[in-house]
Amino acid sequence: MTERRPLIAGNWKMNGLRADARRLAVEIGTLRQFKPDAAFDLLVCPPFTVLEAVSQMIENTGVYLGAQTCHVAEKGAHTGDISAAMVADSGCSHVILGHSERRTNHAETNDQVNAQAKAAHEQSLIAIICVGETEAERESGKALEVVAEQVKASVPDDSSYGNTVIAYEPVWAIGTGKVATPDDVQEVHANIRKVLAEKLGQEEADGIRILYGGSMKPENAKELLALGDVDGGLIGGASLKAEDFWAIAQSC
Ligand code: PGA
Repeated sequence: MTERRPLIAGNWKMNGLRADARRLAVEIGTLRQFKPDAAFDLLVCPPFTVLEAVSQMIENTGVYLGAQTCHVAEKGAHTGDISAAMVADSGCSHVILGHSERRTNHAETNDQVNAQAKAAHEQSLIAIICVGETEAERESGKALEVVAEQVKASVPDDSSYGNTVIAYEPVWAIGTGKVATPDDVQEVHANIRKVLAEKLGQEEADGIRILYGGSMKPENAKELLALGDVDGGLIGGASLKAEDFWAIAQSC
């Protein structure tokens, strides 16, 4: 079976002017260099405006760089948008797609996320495809079903463990301090892997990393990261402090 090396990804969201972003990137890069053999991958996903600056700061540290979305088209008349080719050209290896804040604030649909992931794959980017249920959906017992539907529709058929990561982020747990219970997280992750196996075959499903996201912190990371089908974390708030981000990574 393909080894799933844990991935600890920081989603900086709309945070970081150049000076702060540089400082944070240097701190994370220094921690990584201090322990280059630690058994996890580290990724930071800053806003577009500081990708270049952060890219320079983490050069040769082994920390990966990602963007937070990309457009489906390669180029053209799309004012304000950024293509996958531009993301790759900025030094990124990864791109987060279909985050619940994009699905909510920009009305991104599963079909769009699927097309974005295809565009990312064409540029040899690793797509981190986000899925997750709302509080109402969980309370009405629909969490597994909703997430399965999102995975089926958002993950393109050309996906493999080399080009795709899934992030399960219950919407109600993002930035709220509320965390899903370990049993619930494991149940959803195992079901995502089952859906991936039906869609892409068992080998790909066994190799694709499934991250948990939603109020992950140094205090709860160990328990979550120890779950059988949890292969890392997508971390928002706690990724903005180098020592917290590193402490989470050290829990792998
Ligand atoms: P949070 O965000 O860690 O602040 O809850 C996670 C995310 O939205 O990716």
